[in-house]
Amino acid sequence: MHAAAVPSVGARRDRHMRNRHKRPCRYSISDPTVIRVRMNPWGSVPVPTGSAGPIRKDNTMNNPSLFPMGEPNDAYARYFIGQSYLAPLLNKEIALSNVTFEPGCRNNWHIHHNSPQILIAVGGVGYYQEWGKPVVTMQPGDVVYVPAGTKHWHGATPHASFAHLAIMIPGADVSNEWLEPVDDETYYALDAEAA
Ligand code: MN
Repeated sequence: MHAAAVPSVGARRDRHMRNRHKRPCRYSISDPTVIRVRMNPWGSVPVPTGSAGPIRKDNTMNNPSLFPMGEPNDAYARYFIGQSYLAPLLNKEIALSNVTFEPGCRNNWHIHHNSPQILIAVGGVGYYQEWGKPVVTMQPGDVVYVPAGTKHWHGATPHASFAHLAIMIPGADVSNEWLEPVDDETYYALDAEAA
């Protein structure tokens, strides 16, 4: 028995070229620091939702992104609720890593001093919130710019895992200030208000 036929790359490319003018493409700015670019390059093929999927017996989760998931994020575990994974990808003039959060996992409120942070959603569905502002939902294609010195948190939504790339500028004066956790009562009430 053969597996169900999967369109070849060539067939998908041909369909893409036929449909490229009608593919969904949304570009809106709902917040000065949040730029949303969402598009589905394969036209009628649904964008993956990145749900958590079945939890494997070895207690690791399925990777919701195309990037390496890395190892359990033990070094920062005390600043997170739930399990996260960290994959350092580049450490040059710019530091790039992929952070993956199991459903319900989020980091504490924190501040990156002396470096901005750019978050690029690459899998699943997540949250980002700045102090004093509404929570924002992040899906693959969403980019968030976190100005240096901004109190914020990020993580998964309760029912889906989440992965984002994180970009920062290393420096001797760059530090993270970890603050209070996002408690369960606050976190699980976000469903209703998430943009
Ligand atoms: Mn951050």
